[in-house]
Amino acid sequence: MLLALTGAGISAESGVPTFRGADGLWRQFRVEDLATPGAFARDPATVWEWYRWRRDQLARALPNPGHECLARLERRRGGFSLVTQNVDGLHRRAGSTVVRELHGNIWRTVCSRRCGTVIDESPWADPPGAPAGRPDSLPACACGALLRPDVVWFGETLDQRVLGAAIDEAESADVVLVVGTSGLVYPAAALPGVARRAGATVIEINVEATPLSGEADIVLRGPASVVLPALEARR
Ligand code: NAD
Repeated sequence: MLLALTGAGISAESGVPTFRGADGLWRQFRVEDLATPGAFARDPATVWEWYRWRRDQLARALPNPGHECLARLERRRGGFSLVTQNVDGLHRRAGSTVVRELHGNIWRTVCSRRCGTVIDESPWADPPGAPAGRPDSLPACACGALLRPDVVWFGETLDQRVLGAAIDEAESADVVLVVGTSGLVYPAAALPGVARRAGATVIEINVEATPLSGEADIVLRGPASVVLPALEARR
């Protein structure tokens, strides 16, 4: 089984800023003001403003050859699975149909009390989700609680079903492609180690060295949009 674990780096060439790179989002914003449950409780308007700004940026982004390559791999071979830390939805836009989104999806809006309301607000949703309030207002759920973006904030736990499936896939993988992740965010960063201990070959694809580079059997330095299609062509 071939497993791909992707991070913000695969979307960098689609014009989506990473978190920790030179132009990374955390260099411009304080995480505790924007992406924590405490921040949302204190100032939901500012949190929503930031997420709407990111959605506006993402609405203009298109999948790049790295995303497209992984979508082709899913179509062409059985035994392929895709786990991503990205919330941007670009893997699905590229045509991947089974995507384990460890940190959620920025286009989904959910009830902050988790009553079960889920709205897909992506511009390409079919049918398009109802817009969650006007840009200047706070979107509220029918149950009375505020709506929030369906992303995993710092201090929150991951969806255990999604994480469990990703761990199972890491344990049964023969090869793991670790693409464009700094390897600093856990538990995602533990997956290559899980796979390696279970016997998989780990291949890192990144423009820079990361804490995961030492664990990798093969390191391919370069942009994902170039390295992934080159790897595919050699198979
Ligand atoms: P990160 O920002 O911590 O690291 C990005 C990594 O990508 C770096 O190691 C960098 O060297 C590498 N990189 C940059 N350009 C690349 C390219 N063209 N090809 C290959 N590698 C490249 O991102 P992370 O490891 O995914 O972890 C941080 C968190 O950031 C995750 O929780 C994720 O949800 C969130 N995030 C997501 C998005 C998104 O959805 N696109 C964007 C920013 C942050």
